[in-house]
Amino acid sequence: MPAPERLLLASIHDVSPRFEAEVDRLVELLDAHVGKRIAMLVVPNHWGGAPIVQGSAFAARLRGWAEAGFEMLLHGYFHRDDATHDGVLARARARHMTAGEGEFLGLSREVASARIAEGRVLIEDVIGRSIDGFVAPAWLYGRGALEALADSGVPIAEDHLRVWSPRDQRELARGPVITWASRTRMRLASSLIAAPAVRYLPMRVLRVGVHPPDIRHPLLVRSINRTLRGAVASRRPSRYSDLRVA
Ligand SMILES: [Zn+2]
Repeated sequence: MPAPERLLLASIHDVSPRFEAEVDRLVELLDAHVGKRIAMLVVPNHWGGAPIVQGSAFAARLRGWAEAGFEMLLHGYFHRDDATHDGVLARARARHMTAGEGEFLGLSREVASARIAEGRVLIEDVIGRSIDGFVAPAWLYGRGALEALADSGVPIAEDHLRVWSPRDQRELARGPVITWASRTRMRLASSLIAAPAVRYLPMRVLRVGVHPPDIRHPLLVRSINRTLRGAVASRRPSRYSDLRVA
């Protein structure tokens, strides 16, 4: 029996009018390796100050990317963690692990449902078709978020360690997302160490996620290029939706 085909999933996080210039450059960077097999993680209103507005120039661009074959995943609503967390540990976790960007960590089922529904309608109106999935900011889901997601019928979700279908709770892929953190120098260094080894990882589905600030660091850009070049040598660039039929 032949070994199962190895796949590569590439995504751009924090797609928002706030980062339009960075997203443009990230599209170029990824396109050179994976073509249009790029998942865009779209934030409806980044930090409450960068709304995606139907009829705007950015909305037209989003629709253009969707029509070119990019996948469109809802990525939170505001991306900022404005919930109050119970307990010292949960608060510390939310603050230190995510710089306060774990929007869906502390939301109730009701609030999470409302934000998913509102964001979904907005993006679907803009792109003229269904969204392909949902990814919580910083990959952090609280219980309310997971329940809301199961209710939503969204076909695909992912966290740092796996991809699953909230529709039927089926696990679709397992293994950490490769990502570059430019927020602090320490994390920058550790992502540069990790990246070259990535091509040897055994998992069937390799996920690579890039963020707008990555493009401002030449070292990170070089590392992203190296990682993607290594990955496509033995993996087929794919779409998240391919996992549902695989
Ligand atoms: Zn994000």
